Amino acid sequence: MIGVPFGKPCIICEKRQGETILVQAIESGSGPGWGLYACPSPCAQEYAGRSYAPSWLQEDLRQLGLWPPTN
Ligand SMILES: [Zn+2]
Repeated sequence: MIGVPFGKPCIICEKRQGETILVQAIESGSGPGWGLYACPSPCAQEYAGRSYAPSWLQEDLRQLGLWPPTN
């Protein structure tokens, strides 16, 4: 589920500062779903710790070397 689209604003800090990764995928019954994006660090790391974060997000961050958070 790792995506690296350019120009997607971060849902946490709302900045467009380069790469963001998919942190939440919203399924749509008809047609393509859509997603929420955040900076890999620290925003996505913070999001992954939330109770409603998808289970695959921590695995995506682990593959990027960003999970578990070091601080
Ligand atoms: Zn951010």
